[in-house]
Amino acid sequence: MTMKNTTRRNSFARSLWIVFAIAAMAIFMIVLKNFFFSMGNEPSITALELQTSSPSSDLSPTSRPAQIEKTKGPAKTEDVLILVNKAHKLPDDYTIDLATIESVKVDKVLIDDLKAMRKAAQKENISIRMESAYRTKAEQEKTFNNAVSEYVKQGLLRNTAVERAKQVAALPGYSEHETGLAIDFSFEGHAEKQAKMWNWLRENAYKYGFILRYPEGAKHITGYTYEPWHYRYVGKQHAKAIYNQGLVLEEYLSGVGINGV
Ligand SMILES: [Zn+2]
Repeated sequence: MTMKNTTRRNSFARSLWIVFAIAAMAIFMIVLKNFFFSMGNEPSITALELQTSSPSSDLSPTSRPAQIEKTKGPAKTEDVLILVNKAHKLPDDYTIDLATIESVKVDKVLIDDLKAMRKAAQKENISIRMESAYRTKAEQEKTFNNAVSEYVKQGLLRNTAVERAKQVAALPGYSEHETGLAIDFSFEGHAEKQAKMWNWLRENAYKYGFILRYPEGAKHITGYTYEPWHYRYVGKQHAKAIYNQGLVLEEYLSGVGINGV
């Protein structure tokens, strides 16, 4: 019995030492790991700083507001280049100073140029009417749903109707009309006269800061087939450059960056 007890005591002491040794080793390893982890963090902080200071990098959400503040400036002039299409949603906090002209609302920034353009057209006996301009998100939703309903009425299944509607109307939040910078022009009257007006707009609108937003053959870039009525205000300087180079807004923006030429 005594021998057995001694052996048991010895083996108990040995186990205690092993446990102690393992615990000590574990503590040492944790300390070591923390030390290297904190060392390893430093380069990534530097990388983040580098990323935020580089304008071309894809900015992280935390650095984005500061970047926008820096590039936005006090004037509304830079907003005229805002890109809204099927891939670019209008920011929820986007603000617009609206002005009413006849029955439509537009961004104040374009009102003088729009009046001047209509006056110039009138001198050639062309009266440019405005069918639709600024739309709220809710109004855009209605526009989109109306397009869906039309296709359903024509006998398409709802899913197919929605897909088809996406070809001709934008989803709420993705329409240029929500910027107040897009106008659908219209003309009531003879087809020949109507053609004359579209031609006049195509050749002269840029002089007043407007571009034909969805020209023929550019659906693969703009997302829309030819719309002779839809014009977008970008300001005279940009409109002239876009017109002369025969570009669409997407192409122009990918070349000039946020501050223009
Ligand atoms: Zn339109």
